[in-house]
Amino acid sequence: MDRYSEITNKNQREIVLLKSFPCVWGKCSFCDYILDNSKSEEEINKLNFKVLENITGKYKVLEVINSGSCFELPKATLDKIKDIIKDKNIEKLFLESHWSYKNKIQDMREYFEIPITFKIGVESFDYDFRNNFLNKNAKFKSVEELKTYFDSPCMMVGIKGQTKEMIDKDMDIVLNNFDHATINVFVNNTSDIKRDDEIVNWFVDKYKDLLDKNPNIEVLYNNTDFGVGE
Ligand code: SF4
Repeated sequence: MDRYSEITNKNQREIVLLKSFPCVWGKCSFCDYILDNSKSEEEINKLNFKVLENITGKYKVLEVINSGSCFELPKATLDKIKDIIKDKNIEKLFLESHWSYKNKIQDMREYFEIPITFKIGVESFDYDFRNNFLNKNAKFKSVEELKTYFDSPCMMVGIKGQTKEMIDKDMDIVLNNFDHATINVFVNNTSDIKRDDEIVNWFVDKYKDLLDKNPNIEVLYNNTDFGVGE
């Protein structure tokens, strides 16, 4: 499992994939990354401190991810990240959280004292597909409501059951409402959700050039494209 990498094409930054307590929700139908979660605070901190030693601050931007939300990182890990931010003169942070922590987002912004791009797993703006099929439990009703708390949606593309119309609508919303977004092309994992190769090919044909040229939309054609994970 690679836990440190550098993202060098768009929005250059260092990225770490840390270990955390179990995801607060843990029931998204397409997710198997929660297998990385742990209940041992000692084990989590030990591993995280080691991973965090890699950070140099060379881009002045750091992204911290874990298999869940940043609120599931132990306090000692958060404190260590804050120390590194100061030591390495990091000026901007990318963090991620599930919708259920929306009322704690501001606290985290204040805690780190530097600008944060807060990502959220939206997967799809289609309410029914998101909450009933993907079981995301992110029950915001509008883009405006989402933007009250979060900066950058993470979208999922290429799942059997998703339609081209849904994806067109999602791309339109992302391109017209957000300064930053991530598009994940679904790759089969151990969950029951399956990739739809026909829709992935259609998506790549239609959107690859447009999205690759857009400096603020990052597309992961493979879930390890950021250089972390397995
Ligand atoms: S919120 Fe994220 S980590 Fe938790 S179950 Fe859903 S996809 Fe997995």
